[in-house]
Amino acid sequence: MRFVKTVLTLAAIALAPVTAHATPLKAVATISILADITHQVGGDLVNVTPIVGPDGDAHTYKPTPQDAKALAEADVIITNGLGLEGWLSRLIKASGTKAIIAVASTGVTPRQMVDDGRKITDPHAWQNVANARIYAHNIASALTKALPDQTTVIQQQAAAYDAQLADLDSWVNGQLADIPAAQRKIITSHDAFGYYGAAYNVTLQAPQGMSTEGEPTAAQVAKLITQMKSEKIHRVFFENMASPKVVQRIAEEANAKVGDAVYSDALSKADGPAATYTNMIRHNTTLFREAMLMNGK
Ligand SMILES: [Zn+2]
Repeated sequence: MRFVKTVLTLAAIALAPVTAHATPLKAVATISILADITHQVGGDLVNVTPIVGPDGDAHTYKPTPQDAKALAEADVIITNGLGLEGWLSRLIKASGTKAIIAVASTGVTPRQMVDDGRKITDPHAWQNVANARIYAHNIASALTKALPDQTTVIQQQAAAYDAQLADLDSWVNGQLADIPAAQRKIITSHDAFGYYGAAYNVTLQAPQGMSTEGEPTAAQVAKLITQMKSEKIHRVFFENMASPKVVQRIAEEANAKVGDAVYSDALSKADGPAATYTNMIRHNTTLFREAMLMNGK
């Protein structure tokens, strides 16, 4: 009996064409931002779910058995790379998945930073819209690999989304154009906006490093408070996936206000202000603009 069953299984595998997946394709993205970009590019051809959902923290995420099951059933897995998902390679191994695995950040220029005395790569590359265009391109390539007969549709959808991202990139530059150089400073709780700062000429500082693991030191917090007072910085922001506790303390001591949550590593829930990547960039930019216009005054 067992022999017969094995033969049948092998026959079924042999009959299935290697590249053709049924639509909608099953895609798993590590974070909600990647899930949205995948959805924009893949449209109805793809059902995508994030591992770390809205308002979730990818730095400290603990995978579940359900995640392994989702990866095992996936046709395509979309990852950020750049060291963001430290928990992923073990999860992929444990799942035994045969999915196409795409690293969305392939081809971006990584920011190398010193964090707590260690040289590390900043994983938050999506905060520069030009990089999101590279992400979308890479994701489209992975989807066409899985659905070669849908290449034209995917490429059309990817081109339409790319045009949206190009507009968004100009919109950000336009929003920030009239802010004097000396006022282009923003303080957030964790160091997630380095790519944004480099792309749009804003100095971003944070009491906490590039990961949300570990607490900021008293010295780091004190230094920021002194700086905020001397430079008259009136707003301090926290990210949606982090606790506002530290920035509340900083705001109190620096006579500043805590701004609305900005979105760094995860989107908002569907009814929030940053349920898509493009809305996230617009929301953050609007808040940053308001805060920078008050700087130094
Ligand atoms: Zn982060």
